[in-house]
Amino acid sequence: MIRVQEAKTIIKNQIFPSEMENVPLSKAENRVLTQDVTATFPMPRFDNSAMDGFAVRAVDTQGANQSHPVSLKIVGISSAGTPSDVTLGSGECIQCMTGAKIPVGADTVVMVEDTSGFSEPDAVKIFLEVHPGKHIRKKGEEIRERDVLISKGTRITPSEIGILASFGYGDISVAKKPRIAIFGTGDELVEPGNELESGEIYNSNLFVFAELVEKAGGEVTIRNVIKDDKDALRSFLSKALETCDVIISSGGVSMGRFDYVRDVFMELGVQEYFWKVAQKPGKPLFFGTGNNTLIFGLPGNPVSSYIGFMEWVWSVLETMMGIPESKPTTGILAEPFPREKVKYRYLFGHAWLEDGKLVCKPSTKIGSHMLSSSLEANCILGGEPGDGLFEPGEEIRIRILPWKTIR
Ligand code: AMP
Ligand code: MG
Repeated sequence: MIRVQEAKTIIKNQIFPSEMENVPLSKAENRVLTQDVTATFPMPRFDNSAMDGFAVRAVDTQGANQSHPVSLKIVGISSAGTPSDVTLGSGECIQCMTGAKIPVGADTVVMVEDTSGFSEPDAVKIFLEVHPGKHIRKKGEEIRERDVLISKGTRITPSEIGILASFGYGDISVAKKPRIAIFGTGDELVEPGNELESGEIYNSNLFVFAELVEKAGGEVTIRNVIKDDKDALRSFLSKALETCDVIISSGGVSMGRFDYVRDVFMELGVQEYFWKVAQKPGKPLFFGTGNNTLIFGLPGNPVSSYIGFMEWVWSVLETMMGIPESKPTTGILAEPFPREKVKYRYLFGHAWLEDGKLVCKPSTKIGSHMLSSSLEANCILGGEPGDGLFEPGEEIRIRILPWKTIR
């Protein structure tokens, strides 16, 4: 049995980076950038109007007010996408819509609400004195050319998609999705949607794994529930070793009579790095490599499987895709947290903000078979081994589940 930190270091040394591929922008969501994205032009790209109104010379509006409007001659229209090529002279203006290029000679915009409106084709009354630069979005005021906008290793969300689109990227280089094989073992497992016979249970772990793989950014390429049978396991695993970057199993790595997963890995020439880690839940955690594939054998209990994926596999997938490691977060316990003498203790938990501080408490259901402990949870709490309990007020590590919110 090795310690969590030691096991993490062993795994880190075996991680290999994903290759890259180009994807169209419409398929880039949740993918990870493989290079910095820089501004290929300033933003805005040209001085343009922030309002529908009239592009004018500020000096021409001097002294204008509601009772003494200034009348200006309309010499053109500049609309978004169709700029006017007229140069503005003294006493002249140009109808100028939101997003339209500011015509040469104009230095400010009067919004239509402060004028007699668009109805007159030849002249307009201006009811307000305006200063130069009013309602003009200046070239480069938001972003300078060649600024780094998004760093490599960023997971692409709607914000990044928007920026990539506004700089004209039709496709973008991202890390290839790690190809993942997930499998569950057990004669008792039945797929949801079917009837259960005596002693059977539904396979839930592979559904959790499939969701987690997708959220992390991988792709499940093979998935199977396998009976506790060595031949079936052997044929599944040899195919998975051939075609996948990561294999994740649930169940069959414990000390039971029918826990064959580790034996079959050994028969297939997998190099074992460890098989037991000082943690609860999930002590029988197997890690090995073979044929450029990382292999995680997680125990079958639903909470061990779920927490095991989040604690051991999630960050590995992120590292493969080039996402920088995040710093651990801590919170203050509002309730006691059970401590183990020699094992690192994980529990689903709930975290919330109180006076700007992160406060948390563990789930009250603490059995590793109690999957409903994940329902109310928005985080996984982790406590170092030691004597006694973690008391309220003490700090504890928090892993926020990335798809949950903290309120
Ligand atoms: P094992 O690790 O195979 O000894 O399984 C430990 C416990 O987890 C047993 O109660 C199994 O029935 C249960 N289990 C194993 N695989 C799954 C699965 N895919 N979905 C839900 N429960 C499972
Ligand atoms: Mg089993």
